[in-house]
Amino acid sequence: MGTQSVLCSVCQGVLPATGRESYTALRGRLIVTNGYCAGGCAERLAEAERAREMARPAAPAPQLPQAPHAQGPAPVRMAPVRL
Ligand SMILES: [Zn+2]
Repeated sequence: MGTQSVLCSVCQGVLPATGRESYTALRGRLIVTNGYCAGGCAERLAEAERAREMARPAAPAPQLPQAPHAQGPAPVRMAPVRL
């Protein structure tokens, strides 16, 4: 039995018991180590996600620094033109 159904995926706290079978030794141990989930984690997570989304400026796509001499074919060595 994994801890996925017992622990809150956001705060890693122990979720409220859903039934008699939820009261296991594993759960008791996790309550000691992780504590209880206070609830509302999913909502808080969504809120934080939205805040982060809004805080992010509409940055332009990352551009490579312009370095015309560093790329492209080597300059062709031309014979001096006699006029
Ligand atoms: Zn939680």
